[in-house]
Amino acid sequence: MLIMLFCLEQILFNMVVEVPRWSNAKMEIATKEPLNPIKQDVKKGKLRYVANIFPHKGYIWNYGALPQTWEDPSHTDEDTKCCGDNDPIDVCEIGSKVCATGQVIQVKVLGILALIDEGETDWKVIAINIEDPDASSLNSIEDVRKIKPGHLEATVDWFKKYKVPDGKPENRFAFNGQFKDKDFAIEVIKATHIFWKALVMRKKMKGEEIICQNSSLCDSPFRCSDAEARAVLQAVSVCPFYFFIFTKFSFFLIFFFWILF
Ligand SMILES: [Mg+2]
Repeated sequence: MLIMLFCLEQILFNMVVEVPRWSNAKMEIATKEPLNPIKQDVKKGKLRYVANIFPHKGYIWNYGALPQTWEDPSHTDEDTKCCGDNDPIDVCEIGSKVCATGQVIQVKVLGILALIDEGETDWKVIAINIEDPDASSLNSIEDVRKIKPGHLEATVDWFKKYKVPDGKPENRFAFNGQFKDKDFAIEVIKATHIFWKALVMRKKMKGEEIICQNSSLCDSPFRCSDAEARAVLQAVSVCPFYFFIFTKFSFFLIFFFWILF
């Protein structure tokens, strides 16, 4: 499925939800796997979860990414003086509804925070689901401060500390941790969209790991047919099925074979 970045005259954007609000599993678009599925991140062979950092519970917003964007690791940002983190741009959706992993929602962009995560630029767009009851009254980062008191402070606190339980130092921010406004955010999004275009349209692989194979971008040299895309899906869907059967019913299977033989 082709999910466009812009959905209405460059004001509303499509967002792909990776992590539902209040949950802990670090689900993310796996850019290094064919067709970029959403999977739980694995570190040192273990599934990754974020810790609950008092007074927060899991991710405090619906967390996800804007499709068709890329924070280019070979580009040094003028403001942050750091390179991109090699991922799509991240979004914190502050609406009250809990969304689902993989859901695509339309969001209104309100502002942006410049996180420096382990020396990389990692922009965090602040946005609201247009279907949220508060969406019509939220039109700027100042509106968020007034209508949702504490949300912005909690967001800075969360990103500052979320890696501390893994033994890492507190994260830093550009602009002293101040949020930039909606117009600034939209300029950053547009820049990451241009980086993404260059990534999927280039003729040669640079030997890096991002898999740009797709079935919908007409001019992309990485475009594949629907049949090829389906083959990728079929190849991976068989394994989890057997894994599921084995893990869920292994006791019964062993018992069954014991009776049989
Ligand atoms: Mg990021």
